[in-house]
Amino acid sequence: MPLTVASNSGAPSPSYGGDRTPHGAVVCVLRPEEPADSQGINVETTQEYEVVIVGAGPAGMCAAMYAGRSMLRTVVIERGASGGELLNTELIEDYPGFESIEGWDLAQRFEAHARKFGAEFVQGTVASVRKLDDGSFETLTDDGTRYLSPAVIVTAGGTPVKLNVPGEAEYAGKGVSYCGICDGAFFRNHTIAVIGGGDAATEEADFLTRYADKVYLIHRRDQFRASKLLQKRAFENPKIEVVWNKVVERISGDENGLVNRISLLDTVTSEQSELDVTGVFVFIGFRPNTGVIADHVEHDEMGYIVTDTSMQTSIPGLFAAGDLRAQLVRQVTTAVGDATTAAMAAEKYLTALRDGEAVVIEGHGGYTV
Ligand SMILES: Cc1cc2nc3c(=O)[nH]c(=O)nc-3n(C[C@H](O)[C@H](O)[C@H](O)COP(=O)(O)OP(=O)(O)OC[C@H]3O[C@@H](n4cnc5c(N)ncnc54)[C@H](O)[C@@H]3O)c2cc1C
Repeated sequence: MPLTVASNSGAPSPSYGGDRTPHGAVVCVLRPEEPADSQGINVETTQEYEVVIVGAGPAGMCAAMYAGRSMLRTVVIERGASGGELLNTELIEDYPGFESIEGWDLAQRFEAHARKFGAEFVQGTVASVRKLDDGSFETLTDDGTRYLSPAVIVTAGGTPVKLNVPGEAEYAGKGVSYCGICDGAFFRNHTIAVIGGGDAATEEADFLTRYADKVYLIHRRDQFRASKLLQKRAFENPKIEVVWNKVVERISGDENGLVNRISLLDTVTSEQSELDVTGVFVFIGFRPNTGVIADHVEHDEMGYIVTDTSMQTSIPGLFAAGDLRAQLVRQVTTAVGDATTAAMAAEKYLTALRDGEAVVIEGHGGYTV
């Protein structure tokens, strides 16, 4: 189905008219222009803002701080507690200015800072974001609140895919990790396991040998999906031992509550075995939380949202920042960097709309308001 979005001038723009954009990314419209009530949600109230932000992780709260500071009437809609993945992170040791800070503490500081500049926070799960014919956006929460705004910044993050085995949740942050850059330094001179067979697993295994003495790279098949170059690096690294045809059945710990062993099952012979490791890094996938907008914006094959350098998506006025955006690195610093740009670009976009001026923001070939 072709993608056609009403531009602010009323003319259809941009229209990629097919399944592939000029960038080769996938575009689809699964949920065409539907009124809210036909999505099965009864609209109870309607509220108007200048900027609506979806998600209160680092990106959402930073965007809220900048939007609030620009005197824009801003609301952040969050389905849980403010903080996003910061709430799953015990210690942050790589956020400039804080040599070591607990994740929840940094989250609270982010929220307080955004509130100081007037941003509002509400609880709700965003069910959809869509552009209306008049160029404004309708953001709908599943409790029936409808938010209307000329600009939306989506910062809904993503979720690492879990092994779903006993011990994984219990030892999360106590040896189980989903982020090599974040937690690698805690495993200096340790023996650890990396689980997975794609690019992320092979690359992170190689990276983690900077710290660990030995890395078992455990994969459920007898060959990797990773690119040949990354495979070569892993095979040539003397600190990496590849363990084929094994899945993790259980993660166990010691009397201090820290990981000390994993139990494995051979996928060919059904034999069981164990490995003594103090860290388990799981890289079996990461799902961007793009459900609310993926239906109608340009995204890559993995579902990450493609933006231009101003963080604008393929739909004018709809910005994306943080972990759900297609990019090389996903960290707190990159999330807030994206968010800073997105909030400033949204402010410029609104100013141009208000003044009826023509602006061209770089990327997607530029567009004119
Ligand atoms: C275990 C772990 C440890 C990490 N450690 C570090 C570290 O030490 N240093 C570092 O820099 N980075 C670390 N990271 C990465 C860092 O946490 C992320 O890069 C960062 O949190 C991304 O911020 P974000 O705002 O884009 O997304 P998130 O933090 O994922 O926040 C997204 C928010 O959106 C909300 N949301 C999603 N969908 C909806 C919806 N439909 N409606 C309403 N709300 C919604 C979510 O509830 C969430 O609060 C770690 C990540 C993990 C998983």
